[in-house]
Order: sequence, then C-alpha cells, then structure tokens
Amino acid sequence: MAINSPEGTRDLLPDEAKFWAHFRDTAFGIFARYGYQPIETPLFEQTDLFVRGIGQATDVVSKEMFTAISGENLRRWVEEGKAPKAKSRLSLRPEGTAGVVRAVVQHDLVPQGAAPAKLMYAGPMFRAERPQKGRQRQFNQVGVECLGAEEPTIDAEAIIMLMRFYEKVGIPRDSMRLLLNSMGCEQCRPAYRELVRAYMDELCDTCMTRAEVNPLRAFDCKNPQCAAIMADAPKITDHLCDECREHYDAVKVLLDGAGVVYEEDYKLVRGLDYYTRTVFEVQVDNGMGAQNAIGGGGRYDKLAEEVGGRPTPGLGFALGFERCVLALEAAGVEFPRAQKCDLFVACVDDSVRARAFALVQECRDAGFTTEMDHQKRSLKSQFKLADKLDAAFVVVMGPDELAAGQVKARNMQTHEEHLVDL
Ligand code: AMP
Repeated sequence: MAINSPEGTRDLLPDEAKFWAHFRDTAFGIFARYGYQPIETPLFEQTDLFVRGIGQATDVVSKEMFTAISGENLRRWVEEGKAPKAKSRLSLRPEGTAGVVRAVVQHDLVPQGAAPAKLMYAGPMFRAERPQKGRQRQFNQVGVECLGAEEPTIDAEAIIMLMRFYEKVGIPRDSMRLLLNSMGCEQCRPAYRELVRAYMDELCDTCMTRAEVNPLRAFDCKNPQCAAIMADAPKITDHLCDECREHYDAVKVLLDGAGVVYEEDYKLVRGLDYYTRTVFEVQVDNGMGAQNAIGGGGRYDKLAEEVGGRPTPGLGFALGFERCVLALEAAGVEFPRAQKCDLFVACVDDSVRARAFALVQECRDAGFTTEMDHQKRSLKSQFKLADKLDAAFVVVMGPDELAAGQVKARNMQTHEEHLVDL
C-alpha cells in the first residue's frame, strides 16, 4: 500500500510552494522597512524551553507538542529504563517566539542600553492538534519578535505592519477584524484572575478544571453556556493598573492616528501564558470554518526572564500561511500565475538532440526560462507541450536548417515564423 503524508500535514505542490515563497518575501520586504532582520532558529528545542516559556498548563505544551528523541536515547529508555537527560529531551517547535527569545538571550542580542532587536522568521511549526479545516499538525508561519523596548510605539507599529502585510498580499480589509485587548501585568493581573476565578460557576468541566491554573481561558470556551456566563464576567480592562491602562490607551491613540480600525475585545486572552499587556488577533469570518484567526500576537515582558535572561520586554506576532490562503480563496483572490516559459526548443529528429540540448543551456545561461522535450516526443506533441508550458517562442531545430547554421523561431502568440541564425 502506498504511504501518504502524515495526518494533519499537507504538501505544498509547486504553485502553492511558489506562493509561499512570494508570501514570505512580501512579508519580509514590508517588515524590513520597519527595521526587522531575519533570524533562523532550530526546528526543535529543548522541551524545557517551551515548558518554561509557554507554560505547562497551556494546551500547546500539555497536549500538543511533538516530542523528538534520538533512536539511541529511545532504545536506552525502553530497554534500560534510562530516561533521557533534560538536554536530550527535545520537542518540535509549536511556535516561534520561545526559540527566538532563547536565541536573543543566548547570544546577548540586546546588551544593556542597546537598541531593540527586531527579528523576523518564517517556517514550519508543529502541533499535535486534531486536524480540521485550517488546523494542521505542521503549518507555516511568518512571525516577528521585537526585544528590548516596552514603549507602546513598538506595539502600534507591529500591528500597523501586520495589517499592511495582509492588505499587500491581497486579503480585503473589510473581510478582516482586528481585535485588541490588554492582559495587564504581574501587578494587576493576579488580582483580576482571582476575581474571575471567584466569578466562575456552572461552567463546563474543562473550564472548571482550568480555573485552577488559568481561569482566563474560560473566555475562550466555545460552549454556548460558558460563553453566556462569561459575557458578564469582570473585564480585565476595568481592572488594569495605572501603567497598564496608560500603555493600552497610548497603543489605541497611535492606531487611531494611523487610521487602523480595531475592535476592543475583553474576551481575547490568547492561548499562551507568556502574554502581558497588549494582545491582538486578526480574524476572517468568511470561508474559514471554526479556525478563523489568521494571525495574532502580543507583548511578553516577562518571557526573557522565564528562559533565564535578564529582564527584557518583548512583543511579537505570528501569522499562519495556510489560513491566509483559505482567506484569499474565500475572497476570490487569484494566485500569481506559474512562471512562464520564454523558449521551448523542439527537435525535428533525434540527430539534432545534442545540439538542441546545448542551445537550451546557452539560453538558460543567458537568463531565459527554457525547456525542451526529454521523452522523444513527435514534433507535434512537442508543440503541444510548449503550449502547455505557455512558451512565448518555440525554436524548431532540424538537420537541414542546422546545416546552414539556422533554426526556425515561431512566435506562439502571432504564429509568425522566421529563420534565425543560431
Ligand atoms: P498562535 O501562535 O496560536 O497565535 O498562532 C498564530 C497563527 O498561526 C494563527 O493565527 C493561525 O493563523 C496559525 N496557526 C496556529 N495553529 C495552527 C494550526 N494548527 N494549523 C494552521 N495554522 C495554525
């Protein structure tokens, strides 16, 4: 039996792979204008990084991580009962932030008094979620992280930049909703969490269990009864400390000034533990099913300390490529066409094949996208192939013309033919 791709993964076939490259390049082009520079971190990290950074109680860490182990360590574990040491306990990255913050701390990219480190990345993330439309086990994200500045201008410019990107890549502005909230900080959030915990009653079992570790997750619950009860729960924005309130207000003023429309949503808590202050998410309702968030992020002023660095405020976001593709399809946006073939070199018979092969190389070296037949097709079916490749010109090489140092060139649009010198 043939082996298919693992559940929850998708091949990006050539057209989509080309679109992914275009998507990433467009994002990086825009983000670079805001001072962001590329960074690449490993696809796997020590499991402890995610446990400490993202939080043991989050779904991402407690249920969804793919753990990686070398064959030798697995054998020792199974056969000799020797569990791997912490540094050999590895997990595929479920998101990009923890790894980038780890790299910033490890390489001291924000020394005291330095300008913020503005970093961007693109690549696959892995979460063992139940696959459904818009939810995969391996998916691609583009993201940014800015470390070393807590000013609200950083929050506002990241949000502006994100919206500019969506518009540039073709997602209609009126199909998107930008949600904004503040999660407070270690000064004001603990008291607020207690208020919510005390308020929680008659919620589903999952919410009541979560109440122990993170009562705020109840705002995320899809159960209609929980949603109705949580609609009257205390709102974080009524319980922010003065600094958090000022910070949040300043972000909103900057967004208003830039003409960026947002909705304040006190229910937006996001699934990861590291967020402080600003959080945001972009949602698209049409054509998306239940997974309608195409991107989101927020501030994480305590994360660098969690992973062993000095206090370094941070902010970042990530956006999902595959969900953006769904949003573009729903909006009827055409994908860029496959690359055109400039030239197809056709052979009248086998005797000219070697010379045709050499010509194809010369044309490619000169910068033209050039193709020839590799299956000994008849001249007629070589023309069919050239049509399929959307070739602009077909050069027909025959023994007689070749003897005179010439080939026949046909313009495939006008069908004009000329004999040209090789
Ligand atoms: P998160 O880190 O969960 O906020 O994810 C950021 C973005 O990545 C989301 O808004 C989605 O667009 C995308 N994303 C997250 N999880 C998945 C998944 N399992 N499959 C596809 N895209 C995802």
